Amino acid sequence: MISGMSKPILAVDIDGVISLFGSEEKPDRAFTKLELVDGVPHLISLPCGERLVRLSEHFELVWASGWEDKANFYLPSLLGLPEMPHVSFDGAVAAGGAHWKLGPLEEYGQGRAMAWIDDNFDESCYVWAEQREQPTLLVPTETHRGLEEAHVEALRQWALSLH
Ligand SMILES: [Mg+2]
Repeated sequence: MISGMSKPILAVDIDGVISLFGSEEKPDRAFTKLELVDGVPHLISLPCGERLVRLSEHFELVWASGWEDKANFYLPSLLGLPEMPHVSFDGAVAAGGAHWKLGPLEEYGQGRAMAWIDDNFDESCYVWAEQREQPTLLVPTETHRGLEEAHVEALRQWALSLH
């Protein structure tokens, strides 16, 4: 593994990034698939698969979600992705702000440039990003749109700017 010296990390949230919610509109079936995850329906944004594959050219992807190891059980086959490592939150999962992710993410990304895509940043996340010694980028999403093409381009540009 030479990953520690090459690509920055991209921490990928799932709910509000890949699993969409909060839209008044009827979901477009051409781009979404309803999938039961532990008996709960999730509206999966199908274009995310190809977008994440493209991002993996520039980043080392890691799941950063309360789904934890469930992500690899459900998502790679749905989205055409390889299995990815996941950040373990060790029971820290909580509703509301994303701050419960900060400690585990800080530990996971030690000494590495890191981007993080999530629908649920709060002030503490931006303070953390500002204070990290390594380059750090927070990419917020809208819960009913998730990971969009513009995010992919912004992330790609940021990764290239690190060289
Ligand atoms: Mg989320």
